[in-house]
Amino acid sequence: MDLPPSYADTPTLLVKIFGKDRPGITAGLFDTLAAFAVDVVDIEQLVTRGRITLCALVTSPSTGTGTEGELRATVHSWAESVGMEAEIISGVGDNRPRGTGRSHVTVLGHPLTAESTAAIAASITSTGGNIDRIFRLAKYPVLAVEFDVSGPPTAHLRTSLALEAARYGVDVAVVASGLQRRAQRLVVMDVDSTLIQDEVIEMFAAHAGCEAEVAEVTARAMRGELDFEQSLHARVELLAGLDASVVDKVREEVRLTPGARTLVRTLKRLGFQVGVVSGGFTQVTDALQEELGLDFASANTLEIVDGKLTGRVVGEVVDRAGKARLLRRFAAEAGVPLAQTVAIGDGANDLDMLNAAGLGVAFNAKPLVREAAHTSVNVPFLDTVLYLLGITREEVEAADIEDSMEGADGLLGEDGPRGGDGSRDGDAPRSASGEDSSAPAPA
Ligand SMILES: [Mg+2]
Repeated sequence: MDLPPSYADTPTLLVKIFGKDRPGITAGLFDTLAAFAVDVVDIEQLVTRGRITLCALVTSPSTGTGTEGELRATVHSWAESVGMEAEIISGVGDNRPRGTGRSHVTVLGHPLTAESTAAIAASITSTGGNIDRIFRLAKYPVLAVEFDVSGPPTAHLRTSLALEAARYGVDVAVVASGLQRRAQRLVVMDVDSTLIQDEVIEMFAAHAGCEAEVAEVTARAMRGELDFEQSLHARVELLAGLDASVVDKVREEVRLTPGARTLVRTLKRLGFQVGVVSGGFTQVTDALQEELGLDFASANTLEIVDGKLTGRVVGEVVDRAGKARLLRRFAAEAGVPLAQTVAIGDGANDLDMLNAAGLGVAFNAKPLVREAAHTSVNVPFLDTVLYLLGITREEVEAADIEDSMEGADGLLGEDGPRGGDGSRDGDAPRSASGEDSSAPAPA
C-alpha cells in the first residue's frame, strides 16, 4: 500500500458552510466538490441549536477539472440554493500539528457563566496554552465542557486554573492527555459523604443518643486534627451496649449520593472494576457492595456479641494509610497498574489514597483535601466524575436506553437506569422532572 499523501506544500481550500441544519448538507457539499476531483484533507462538523457549521479542508482543484474560481462559484451557488452561507479561504497545507504538553481541562459549571468562561480561557492563555478544541460533555446535572489544551505542562495549567476555579465557584479538572486516560480501569471510592450522603457512625450515634459527642470527634478527625484510629475507637466506644437490630435500621436509612448509581452502572458497563474503602463499617458497606454490584469493599467491622454492640471494632483498622493500602491491593487483584486507577473521597483520611491513585478526585471535600488532590468536584453529583474521564452524558444515556431495551426484566426494576428508587439516589428525578428535555425517553 502507498504511504498516505502528505499535503504539506499542497495548495488547499478551507470551505466553511453555515446555516440551518437539515439532512443532506454534507452530502450536498461533497457532491458539489466531487466535480473538481479534490481530495479531503480534514472535515469537522458541529451543530449548535439547529445550526450546522461544516468545515472541509480540501486540495485545490487539479488541472483539467476546473479552476479554483469555478469551484468557488459552484460552491457558492450550491450553498445559496440550499439557503446556507459559504466561505472559502485559500491557503497551503494541512492543519498545524497540535503542540506538545496536551491536557484535558474539564469545567463543571452550575451554571457556567460567560464571566467564568472568560477567566478560564484567559488563564489558559496566560500559561502559554492554546485551546485546540472545545466541546460540551454534558448539560445534566451540571454543564460540563471540555477544553483540549496544548502547550504548558499539565501541573502548571492545573495550578493556574485552580485559582480561577476557586474565584468563580466552578470546578476545573486538569488531566494529562494520552492513552492513560482511556486506560483507567479501577475506581475506588470512599463511602461516608462520598458514595453515600451520610456519616454512618453518626447514624449509629443518633440511635445511641450520643450524636453530638460523636459528630464532634468525626469533624475533628476529618479536619486532620485527630488521628483517625484513635478517633474511631473513641467513637465506637460510645456505641457500646447498642442493640444489634440498629444495624438494619441504619442500613435502611443510608442515602446514596445523587448520581451514585449512574456512576457505578456506567463504569461497570465500560469494563471498570469498582470498589469502596471505608473507615465506616462492613455492616453497611457489605450491603452497598451487594446492592451496587461492587467488585471490592473493605471497611471496619463493629463487634457484636450477644446481640449488642460491644463498642469495639474487630480486626485491622481501615484508616488513612489503610485506605491507600487497600487501593494498592485492589489494583493488584484487578491486575491494574496504580497509574490507571481513580480514587474518590472527601476526607483527610482519603488523602493518601487520592495521591496514590492515577487520578485522585476530592469530592465536595474540605479545603485541606481539595488543595492536596489532583482534581476536585464541588457539585453534589457523583456521576460528574464520569465527565472527568471524558465520558459524555449522551453516552451514559444511550447505554441506559440500550440496556433497558435489551433486558427489560431486570433493569427497569428496583435498580432501573432511570426509574430507580428515587428516594435513595438522585439519578431518578432526572426523568421525572424533565430537566433534560432533549434526552430521548426510555423505551
Ligand atoms: Mg468520607
